[in-house]
Amino acid sequence: MPHPGIRKGHDVTDILDHWVSGSSWAGASTRTAPVYDPARGAVHTQVRLATAADVDAVVAAASEAWQDWRDASVARRTAVMFAFRELLHARKDELARILTREHGKVLADAHGEIARGMEVVEFACGLGHLTKGAYTENASGGVDVYTLRQSLGVVGIISPFNFPAMVPLWFFSVAIAAGNAVVLKPSEKDPTAANWMAALMREAGLPDGVFNVVHGDKEAVDALLVHPDVRAVSFVGSTPIARYVYETATGHGKRVQAFGGAKNHMLVLPDADLDLVADAAVNAGFGSAGERCMAVSVVLAVDAVADELVSKVRERMATLRTGDGLRGCDMGPLITGAHRDRVASYIERAPADGATVVVDGRDVEADGDPDGFWLGPTLLDRVPTTSPVYSDEIFGPVLSVVRVSGYEEGLAIINASPYGNGTAIFTNDGGAARRFQREAQVGMIGINVPIPVPVAYHSFGGWKASLFGDAKAYGPHGFDFFTSEKAITSRWLDPSHGGLNLGFPQHD
Ligand code: NAD
Repeated sequence: MPHPGIRKGHDVTDILDHWVSGSSWAGASTRTAPVYDPARGAVHTQVRLATAADVDAVVAAASEAWQDWRDASVARRTAVMFAFRELLHARKDELARILTREHGKVLADAHGEIARGMEVVEFACGLGHLTKGAYTENASGGVDVYTLRQSLGVVGIISPFNFPAMVPLWFFSVAIAAGNAVVLKPSEKDPTAANWMAALMREAGLPDGVFNVVHGDKEAVDALLVHPDVRAVSFVGSTPIARYVYETATGHGKRVQAFGGAKNHMLVLPDADLDLVADAAVNAGFGSAGERCMAVSVVLAVDAVADELVSKVRERMATLRTGDGLRGCDMGPLITGAHRDRVASYIERAPADGATVVVDGRDVEADGDPDGFWLGPTLLDRVPTTSPVYSDEIFGPVLSVVRVSGYEEGLAIINASPYGNGTAIFTNDGGAARRFQREAQVGMIGINVPIPVPVAYHSFGGWKASLFGDAKAYGPHGFDFFTSEKAITSRWLDPSHGGLNLGFPQHD
């Protein structure tokens, strides 16, 4: 399948264009950014960085397309979503390779990302049920009241580098199914998947202009946040940018959901099965090289079992293979050289802060190109909560063990965190688990589940600095976010309704 906008080869003069009204579009900007193949440490293409004027043109195209798409029947929109799901399923290998090449995550993990995104497409196929309103007959004598949900118009989606397919799928599937037109601004670090999915939506029958991709950096984002014709913004990224996006876009009258960073804790009680816990900690700590917003980055181990748990985690880490995601390795490279160096700087400072480096990922021998952005799995023990190693979102393969005296101390640490994305408790004590689900100040809780990302028909979102705004992603929240409810009060007049009465309407 030819996908315009996607060029092959390592010629760095290649440029990935925007995708507007169903085809590639260069816009007027002369600025570009390099896109790396992190397993080779080499630039494999450039991506355009839109100007504000480019964004204006894209929003205008989307506004025009929305005029028809808003009136597309439920049956037609459902048919497009079904067709998209089938095409995505059939061509997922192609997309997985794009993800591995630009993000670095191993192929199996890229497939996992696509599967979790496809779940939301399947959910969005139920748009007929999810956008229908309610009807009350005879609310007052001869008066009926009913509600409708209507699309908003043009919506902006700004996504992060760590899930170049899944996070856009969380939002554009629901937004488009609900009758909106989308302008997606993906991460400039791994932008190709966005064009690929937009071209696939076109193939599924989506009219041109309903799904557009504009590439760029702060300039493009700022233009979307203040544009008068952008009705809503869904943002996913780091907390400082999420806060900025939320404040700026709400200040310009938009509906906003801005998902921020995370620091996810896993509390291990002494009665837990430590082998299963060690498996879970390694999977959740080092999957996708720790570049997941739901990664476990802190294990809160109760003193009584901490030595044994650290030793089991270390044993498992020794079996992991870091390297090229196309070679069947367990863990790939980090997204850029600068990010790898930043993550490594936390390992460097850990001993001075009082932590013990149990496994040092800087020593890794990667199965891949020597120039790749490698950093192996790292285990730090006895990390003090006063250290930035504990408090900063490191976003890499660094797992910190913090030792606690028991449940109460562990819970207090979790609740003192400014983040509240995900957390998990590992225990065989149902009473402790039940207390935890009630007492943890976190949006998504796992009970013996380390990465509790809800399925598509429940909504995804954290608390505190992990989500600004009160609407979560996908599930019922997703359809509510991308539609406005309208309530209609109706009567069909007959002579009994005559007469003057200036009082506030009452029902009888
Ligand atoms: P990021 O904040 O650097 O970038 C996110 C988006 O914002 C990108 O599209 C980027 O181009 C844009 N951007 C960057 N700087 C900007 C600026 N100054 N002004 C306006 N826009 C700007 O995030 P990232 O590094 O791409 O992604 C990793 C972060 O995303 C982590 O903090 C991770 O926890 C978070 N994340 C959160 C969730 C969640 O659901 N809470 C999910 C995935 C990722």
